Order: sequence, then structure tokens, then C-alpha cells
Amino acid sequence: MEGNKRWVSGDLHHPDRDPNRRQLVAQAQEPFGAILACIDSRVPPELLFDTGLGDLYVMRTGGEAVGPVVTGSVEYGPMTSGTPLIVVLGHQRCGAVEAAYKSIRDGKPLPGNLQAIVKALQPAYEQAVREGGADPVETMARAQVKLTATDLRSNQDLAPLVGKGTLAVVGAYYSLDTGKVEVLAGEPS
Ligand SMILES: [Zn+2]
Repeated sequence: MEGNKRWVSGDLHHPDRDPNRRQLVAQAQEPFGAILACIDSRVPPELLFDTGLGDLYVMRTGGEAVGPVVTGSVEYGPMTSGTPLIVVLGHQRCGAVEAAYKSIRDGKPLPGNLQAIVKALQPAYEQAVREGGADPVETMARAQVKLTATDLRSNQDLAPLVGKGTLAVVGAYYSLDTGKVEVLAGEPS
């Protein structure tokens, strides 16, 4: 979050992005966080948190859609080497969420493998419909973050780590307009 403040203000440090750092982490890595974010070209975690080489595991899918391979990739650090933080990062004006919203609302499946993303976002759609509100796509994008973070926090592999207090699973939301990351749920105490 300190790095994100720098991103918002423009006072960037660009830490750990040089040949020394490359050599330091060449044999072993110890990232402090795992991030599940959207594929959107405007939401690269390393830039908007002003982090460097070896700082983050990053998994990106359309609308942070999950399936077994994605979840396994997010779990890898926490389960194998004690990475203490997972962040599910949604964002403003998410094209994947908007496309899924319209597809489900209109009963028109998307072509090919895109429909797999729509299916993965179905629970967020239903949550958004229940919540109502003026901007259902934004509501759905936030619902997707919260539902995904809740699922990770309570799944059989990660729940024991959360219970011990060695892992936090945070849901967060990125504003394209301001560059600011807002924590929605699961902030560690
Ligand atoms: Zn997106």
C-alpha cells in the first residue's frame, strides 16, 4: 500500500529493478505477496504497487476468474513457502466483468473459451443482482473480488493458514482514474 501511494503521487522508487537484484534472487525467491488480478493492460500489479523483481507472485485472468489451475497458482506461494499475503485485485471499468454481465443478462453466451470466464463470474453476477445499485457492472466487479477472496480464505488448503494468522487474504479494488487501491475486505489487523 505504501508502493501504491507512490504510484498515485508519482513519487516512484522503482525498487529492486537492477542487475544486483536479479543476481540476488536468481537462485531463490521469497515474494511477500501473491496477487490475483485482471489481464487488463492498465492494471499491472508490479507498477501500481511500485514493487520489483522477486517481490510478488502474479496471476492474472479476465475479471480475476478462477478455476483449479488459477487457484493452485495463487496458493503455490502460501502453501509451499509461507507467502503471508494474497490480494485479489479487481478494478474499475473491467471489460471482462462488463462482457460477462451483459452475456448473462441477455442470455447470450460468448464465443469459444470466453464463455468459461462468463461461467466463472456467474456468482458475482448473482450477487450484483441481489445488491442492486445504480451501476451493476461496478457492483459486480466488487462482488467478484469479495466472493473470490472469501472463497480463497475459506478453502481447505488456505483456511488453516488464515486460522493460524500466518496468511491474510485481502480483497482490493483499483481505480483507473486515480491509481488508488482501496481495500474492500480482509485487511490484516
Ligand atoms: Zn478487468
